Amino acid sequence: MVFEIEKVYAREILDSRGNPTVEVDVSTYCSDIRLRGFGRASVPSGASTGANEAIEMRDKDKRYLGKGVLTAVHNVNALLGPEIMGMEVRRQREIDLMMIELDGTENKSSLGANAILGVSLAVARAAADSFNIPLYQYLGGTNSFTLPVPTLNIINGGQHAGNDLSIQEFMIQPKGAETFREGLRWAAETYHALGVILKDEYGSSATNVGYEGGYAPPLSITADAIEAITDAIEMAGYTEDDITIGVDAAASSFYKDGKYDIDGEQLNAGELVDYYLDLVNTYPIYLIEDAFEEEAFVDFATLTEELPNTIIVGDDLFVTNVERLNMGIEMGACNSLLLKVNQIGSLSEAFDAATTAHRNGYSVVVSHRSAETEDSMIADISVALGAELIKTGAPARSERTGKYNQLLRIEEELGEAAHYMRI
Ligand code: PEP
Ligand code: MG
Repeated sequence: MVFEIEKVYAREILDSRGNPTVEVDVSTYCSDIRLRGFGRASVPSGASTGANEAIEMRDKDKRYLGKGVLTAVHNVNALLGPEIMGMEVRRQREIDLMMIELDGTENKSSLGANAILGVSLAVARAAADSFNIPLYQYLGGTNSFTLPVPTLNIINGGQHAGNDLSIQEFMIQPKGAETFREGLRWAAETYHALGVILKDEYGSSATNVGYEGGYAPPLSITADAIEAITDAIEMAGYTEDDITIGVDAAASSFYKDGKYDIDGEQLNAGELVDYYLDLVNTYPIYLIEDAFEEEAFVDFATLTEELPNTIIVGDDLFVTNVERLNMGIEMGACNSLLLKVNQIGSLSEAFDAATTAHRNGYSVVVSHRSAETEDSMIADISVALGAELIKTGAPARSERTGKYNQLLRIEEELGEAAHYMRI
């Protein structure tokens, strides 16, 4: 039975920051049984974007302050769509490779990673729909029975909030729970306890939220944010074994002239290593992402060696790119890959990065972007990949909870076969 791609159609929609993004519809047809399939996907967008990411094409004209995506939409409708028309919808890798070749650049700057990724994701959805298989099973086969531990961003700083915290994300991992559903509840209860604590200590405006739904209190010192979280975990009735803490420093955003500007101090890389060691020794910190600027492979390797029991994640460092990940693996930089589909710009390449990570003993953290849409596809991708963690913001705001809610549905559907990941 063959479902051929019958129609590809892109449009411009809005993301959670009110900026345009690309949405793609793919329709299929099977002439043997006269049945159709359909898949729709949309493309997220970052704020603290890595310098080595695939290029998101923006119109740079008057509309939407230059952020329109009509050129990328046109590239789908006039170039990419016609190219893949008539192809068997399950030939994901071939389709992705054709688009990459048609673009012809290293970083997808000719047609736009947002154009290529929109098609790539919608094709996968259309294939799953055509054969009436849940997306996570279509992508992951019979291996897709583990639910990732969520790492939920409950305090926003850095470029994601209007406060003075250098660190961008303060997260919690309910890793002691028995099921995903239980872990998500623990996290939501902790989020609400944190709201009470922040309001009591800093006033009601401290519970305003940042890009990813975490609170954005008027703080400037890392330890103050972490202490509010440890208090919230306790207030919600949980222990350090139940819920651990993680940070995404997104350190490129506070790195200038060889120094890291944090807590009112200017630290060199060696001093920043000591800073993290101190944090891990003082608080139940289990995960550190983008601890240094995006080219500091050597410093990442030092920290990874110093903290063998901490998840050291590379985001802007690896940009979901197999070549950069392989460099990191050779040098011992990090022990975990952050996987963002739009950093690399096609589903097949993102899956290659995950496979490379797992084959080399690195864990995988599937991640959203700071601007998202209602599309929950990364939830299915995380299960399909057997990802250890998923990071998709606070347990609040629909563009964030949409992904967590999809994982609740997947866990429910798997029933007894579902296992909550042990990390
Ligand atoms: C991140 O840095 O991990 C992140 C999700 O932020 P952004 O999407 O702004 O890069
Ligand atoms: Mg990051």
